[in-house]
Amino acid sequence: LIVHGGAGGARYPKGDRRFRELLEAVEVGMAAIRRGSGVDGVLAAVEYMEESGAFNCGRGACLTAGGTVELDAAVMTGAGLAGAGVGVVTCTHHPVSLARWVMENTKHVLIAGGSTVDYARLAGIRVEELRPSEAAKAKYEELTAKGGLNADLLRRMQGGNTVGAVAVGKDGVPAAAVSTGGMWLKLPGRVGDSAVLGAGIFADAKSGAASATGTGEEIIRVGLSRRACEMLARHGAGGAAREAISLISRTRGKGTAGIITVDLRGRVGASYNTEAMGRAWFDTAREKAYARI
Ligand code: ASP
Repeated sequence: LIVHGGAGGARYPKGDRRFRELLEAVEVGMAAIRRGSGVDGVLAAVEYMEESGAFNCGRGACLTAGGTVELDAAVMTGAGLAGAGVGVVTCTHHPVSLARWVMENTKHVLIAGGSTVDYARLAGIRVEELRPSEAAKAKYEELTAKGGLNADLLRRMQGGNTVGAVAVGKDGVPAAAVSTGGMWLKLPGRVGDSAVLGAGIFADAKSGAASATGTGEEIIRVGLSRRACEMLARHGAGGAAREAISLISRTRGKGTAGIITVDLRGRVGASYNTEAMGRAWFDTAREKAYARI
């Protein structure tokens, strides 16, 4: 199991809470894998980070240009390429749980917008009003200080701190999950890579799994997570992560993305072309979680 806390922001300052939260997410995820499947593991890790408020997802999500919270998330398993994404979710801090419900109970791979509240009710997920955190409100004030919604504001759209997880279960089946508030100052209604299979996540029983972060529009154009999975058999987890980031750097520029990968042997990889990408993983040989920022 490997998790990330987003590409796009700066390196975490010394003692930053996100460092501990990533390690804790790995512990929570590993406990779930031991009890169940790879999907259980990635879901538990991502749900933990959604709840923590320390990342750009769930309780800590960024705000749209209109000052609202709109969440995207997805989950996928290598078993039969089953998976689903949800976009523009405004009724629960745990859109990834909603994505799991869509994956397991419908034939669809993407549901977005107002009707997600009906699915949340069907899924038995507590429907709640999404209130911006105090930190998000303060950052929004800062970003919009020079005037309201205009072209200049939209140029200031920025990502960072999204979360994702990939793992291989005891049965050898790979899984991936992702959850985000999206990009700061995105237009209301925008859906990013994190809701789109093949872009924000991909999992395939023949190769492994990948979860991407960064500028969603570029990740969708490249189909980054799917491309990374195609590279897994040849390059292994570390090599595929590096090759995928080299591909997006060459074709769409630097500062665009980060990715985590896992291959069928359970080896993990991570790479990014941004300043930093917080990540943590579990080393089963040493029975210990490690983190890097
Ligand atoms: N990929 C996310 C999006 O574009 C943002 C991020 O990873 O920080 O919605």
